[in-house]
Amino acid sequence: MYSVDEALGHILSHFERLPTEHVPLEEAFGRILAQAIHAAHDLPPFPNSALDGYAVRAADVAAASAESPVRLPISGDIPAGSFPQAPLQAGTAMRIMTGAPLPEGADAVVPVEQTDDAPNRFALNSPLPQSVLIRAAVSAGNGVRPVGEDVTAGALVLEAGRRLRAADIGILAGLGVARVPVVRRPVVAILSTGDELLPPHALLVKGKIHDVNGVALCACVQELGGVPRFLGIAPDSVEAVYSRLEAAADSDVILSTAGVSVGALDVVKEAVTRRGTLGLWRVNIRPGKPLAFGKFGNTPFFGLPGNPVSALVTFDVFVRPALLKLLGAAHADLPQAIAEVAEPMHSDGRRTYARVKLRRAADGQLLAFSTGTQSSGAISSLVNADGLLIIPEGMTEVPIGTRLPVRLFDQTL
Ligand code: AMP
Ligand code: MG
Repeated sequence: MYSVDEALGHILSHFERLPTEHVPLEEAFGRILAQAIHAAHDLPPFPNSALDGYAVRAADVAAASAESPVRLPISGDIPAGSFPQAPLQAGTAMRIMTGAPLPEGADAVVPVEQTDDAPNRFALNSPLPQSVLIRAAVSAGNGVRPVGEDVTAGALVLEAGRRLRAADIGILAGLGVARVPVVRRPVVAILSTGDELLPPHALLVKGKIHDVNGVALCACVQELGGVPRFLGIAPDSVEAVYSRLEAAADSDVILSTAGVSVGALDVVKEAVTRRGTLGLWRVNIRPGKPLAFGKFGNTPFFGLPGNPVSALVTFDVFVRPALLKLLGAAHADLPQAIAEVAEPMHSDGRRTYARVKLRRAADGQLLAFSTGTQSSGAISSLVNADGLLIIPEGMTEVPIGTRLPVRLFDQTL
């Protein structure tokens, strides 16, 4: 029997990061960055005004106050998007808009509110007054966003392996990165097996059940940024399973569910080993003890258990890290917290992923309650769970108050 960590270590040794591809920035959200990004230029690229007002030399308005304002002639107008043609002459002011480049010679911006110019007259194309009355002194640098204040040219902006967020897309846009190097998405083929299975849209007839695993595993793959390729439902026949695997051999990974429990393995095993190898492992995990892993052709193959909770938990524990390795994701760790068990729980000594509801106690401690049935066939136990409480190997009784790690589904808790 393998421990969870041994099994995972062995699985991960079969995966390497996929190649880089370049995608338009508009399509890069949620993708994994394949190379570090360094700034090609400063941000902002030029010193500019942080407000609507008047660009001045701070020294020229040092004596200004509400009681004794200083009047300066206006020597220019700088709307955003323009570039001042001449430097600011000493003893004058230029009207300037937020984001517009600071003229050479100026070192501060007086906000329009501190002048006799009215903000409502400050609109684009409003006539430029002859002079302006400055009612407050400003220090050098006031109202100025220096060149490179946000990002300096050459600086490391985003590290490889990062899953791109909205703000990341924004900074790439600001730096003019229109094509983004990302890791190719893994194509993950998914096969449901079992004579009892019908697709979700089919009318249920006696003795049959709807295929839960197929579409749920597609969603698991999608969530990580992979491309699910559903192969449909194969009946329990070697030919049927083999022909579907054949059609999917060019995928990056193949998953199948069911047919790996004792006695039922033969169909999947025979189909896979016609063109590859398959080891059936007993892994010290609950739910999901039987787990098959091998290769179909050159493609890594996971035979996940058939019970839906086992299929989804073993996906989380074994397939998810493998896909994140294919994706070169820097942060593959599952979001975890420590929770206190709020009602007695039991395990059979295997590493157990118990479906729990979580509540915050008044002192901030997370409390874990069982979702009820822990049957590996009961998908509702996952639906109602806020997370998976990880009961370590060897622990059979879990008394109230035991503090254990919990894999969080809902991070708002
Ligand atoms: P098996 O591994 O074939 O013995 O299946 C174990 C259990 O999982 C049985 O109760 C199956 O009916 C159930 N099962 C297998 N595949 C699926 C599936 N795709 N959706 C829902 N239940 C399944
Ligand atoms: Mg079966």
